[in-house]
This record gives sequence, C-alpha cells and structure tokens, in this order.
Amino acid sequence: MASRHPTPAIGRAPKVSFVSLGCPKALVDSERIVTRLRAEGYELSRSHAGADLAVVNTCGFLDSAQTESLAAIGKALAENGKVVVTGCMGAEPEKITSRYPQVLAVTGPHQYESVLEAVHRVLPPRHDPFLDLLPPEGIKLTPRHYAYLKISEGCNNRCSFCIIPKLRGVLRSRPAADVLREAERLIGAGVKEILVISQDTSAYGTDLKYAASAWKGREVQARFLDLARTLGELGAWVRLHYVYPYPHVDEVIPLMADGKVLPYLDVPFQHAAPEVLRRMRRPAAQEKTLRRIARWREICPDLSIRSTFIVGFPGESEADFRLLLDWLEEAELDRVGCFRYEAVAGARANELTPAVPEAVKEERWHRLMSCQQTISARRLKRKVGTRQQVIIDEVRSGGRSQPNAGGTIAKGRTRGDAPEIDGVVHVASRRPLRLGEIATVRIERADEYDLHGTVVGF
Ligand code: SF4
Repeated sequence: MASRHPTPAIGRAPKVSFVSLGCPKALVDSERIVTRLRAEGYELSRSHAGADLAVVNTCGFLDSAQTESLAAIGKALAENGKVVVTGCMGAEPEKITSRYPQVLAVTGPHQYESVLEAVHRVLPPRHDPFLDLLPPEGIKLTPRHYAYLKISEGCNNRCSFCIIPKLRGVLRSRPAADVLREAERLIGAGVKEILVISQDTSAYGTDLKYAASAWKGREVQARFLDLARTLGELGAWVRLHYVYPYPHVDEVIPLMADGKVLPYLDVPFQHAAPEVLRRMRRPAAQEKTLRRIARWREICPDLSIRSTFIVGFPGESEADFRLLLDWLEEAELDRVGCFRYEAVAGARANELTPAVPEAVKEERWHRLMSCQQTISARRLKRKVGTRQQVIIDEVRSGGRSQPNAGGTIAKGRTRGDAPEIDGVVHVASRRPLRLGEIATVRIERADEYDLHGTVVGF
C-alpha cells in the first residue's frame, strides 16, 4: 500500500510537526531537538496534516499528564500517521506501544541522538550546505525575548510522590562555562530574560564537586551562587526557578537586592506540616522556612516568592491542613499553585495510608485557593502607586474604543512575575511598544491576579 506521506519531492525540505507537552524542562528538550532538526535542513510544520512526520515530546509525571500525552499521540497518528515519540513517557515505552503499536519509534527523556536517528530513518535529511544554516540562538519555541536555560538534568532527592529521579536519573550538572556560553548566545540573539531551570536548582554543581571551568579568561565554579552572580553580569533579567530553601540559598538574596538577579524565587514548598513533609521526603524540610522567608524579605523587600503545594497527600490530617493554611497566612507568598494529590505509577507514596478521599482533597483545594487568593490580592495591592519595570510580552494597538485611543495596549510582566505561571500587567502606552522591551509603568490598579498601569518611561 502506498504511504499517505511519501518522501518529500526532490528540492523540498522535509517537514516535521512537533508537539511539546509537560513542564518547562521538557520544553527545553524540545527546543534542543527542534534546533538540531532545523540545523539539518528540516522545516517545521504548524499542522500534523501538512508534515511528513510528527514528533511528540511526552510528559509522564502524573497520570493525567500521561493521558494527555497518549491523546496527543493518537491525534498525531490520526492526522499524520508517521509518529516518533520521545520524552518522559518514553522511559516506559510499553505504555505507548501497547496502545499504539504503529508508532515508529519511542525514545526516552534527553535522548536527543535517538530521536534524531529515528527521524533520519523515517525521513532522511536533505543536505544543502547553503540552506542548512542554524540561526545563532537556535529555534526557540518560547517567544524570542525570553528563554529557559537548563543548568542540570536529573535529581538526587527522593520525594516519595515523584518518579522523576527514576525517569531522569541522578543529578548531572552542566559545567558553569557551558551554561554561561549558552546564556551569552541567547542574549546575543535578542533574549532579554533568562529563566534558570532544573529539577533542583539549589543543588547545582554538587555532583561536580563545584569544579571550576574557564570562561572569558577566568574560572567560574559550578556553584549556585557563583553561577547566579555571573549570569547576572550578562545584562539580561535572570529568574531562578525550582530553588529549595537550603541555608546556602540565603547567599543569593543580596544579589537580588542589588538588582543583579531578579528579586524572584520559585520555591516548591509542597507543604508546611512537618509530618506531611517527612512522609513526602522533601529536601530541606527541616529548615525553619518562615524565619528564613522573613530574613530574605528583610534583605530584599521587593522579593516575590512563588510556590506550589499538594493537598490530600496520604495521611494528611485536618490538623496538618490547617497548619498549612496558617503557614500560608504567615508566609504571605506572592503566587501559589496547588495540586490535589494524585498517585503516580511507581511512586513510593502509593504505599502510604490512609488515602485522603477525593471529596476531601477537592474541599481542601478550594479552601487553600481561596485563602491564598486573598493573600495574593493583598500583596498585589501594595504595588498600586509604585513604578515597576515591565517586560512586554504581547502588543495590541489601541483603537477608538480603547481608553487611550491611538495609543498601545500591551501585556507584560513585572520583575516579580514569571511567564506562563504568574500574573501579568495590562499596560497602556502613548508610544508604540515592542516585544521584549522593558518599560517603566506606573501601577494604577490591581485585581485578584493582575496589575493595570500606564507607561511613564523607558
Ligand atoms: S526534588 Fe523531589 S519532586 Fe523534585 S524532581 Fe527531585 S525527587 Fe522529584
């Protein structure tokens, strides 16, 4: 039977459609694969139907993410027929092949070479030394003005609800010079904001015993503080994600107070009750986090803290949950995400008892969200009347119906808001704004999640 998607005609570049599911860490993997494909002369197709081959980068963290990944594979098969699967779910290929035996190849997380080999087998690259040029910044799936920078792979922690260490292995940090070179290349290509990610950013370099590497005629140690400081010297916004409250994290707060690194910390606390944290086997669970947060804010009053929490973890009592709410009241975090506990196949937490009934999880989730909504709104209100630096993410021209007829309406973020997960600033401006531009905005109003203001300078 003739293939529905024959090899592309001579002279036409082979086209690949790409679906990226999951967390920012998976997005970085996708960007690397796409960059390599583009460098080899492949074109990207916006739709599966218009492509010669589809690649699906899956997420396997939660059962719901696996369901979403399987649905994406099914869609790619229906619309294209030639599908290569990669990513976290690829660590357990039978889950995919039992449902979709027609998938052409399944490769695991970070196996760039295997994905590329599979693509080459099905859809050989067209060699054209004049056309196969890689733009200096690679091909970013995120908007051009911000980029994720992955500083390590894997994780040495063993949180009982998580299978990432099983899927991704132990911590493997990149040498500091390697990370810095990538950051410099991104900035040279127009990136204004670097989002530092890994499974555990504060553990960076421990596996390398903090070994130094040569960068611009000096030695930089693979150490959280040294890397943050040196990244901060490159002239872009630097935002730190997935930081645990270990004592050495305190050292980075003065860099934030001095404006070298954004005054922003994404700390996945997950809970506050000691017994729940113990059962979760969370790193740095013993640290006095409330005292630590208060100290951070003394040093850097502008600090924004975002976190995520899990409610309904096995054994979480009403008293544990109330302790979490009281902790949130005192901690006054700026942004909070909350998940109802979900069993992940292969995680040790599945053996813990008693399970919290679904209805109780749901009720606790609503109570936490409403408690935090009041706290976040209170913290946002404090920004009304201040001037904030805002990076512009989206621009729309104002029409006659707009309050600032003839001006520009845009969306941006303060230094305290990360893209995709935090709030935005709705910005009015008399003069046109460009994507990635950083403007000074007077904040006039706050609602539950977002701010509203007018540009007063650049
Ligand atoms: S720190 Fe815990 S939750 Fe995060 S990746 Fe490591 S084991 Fe998983």
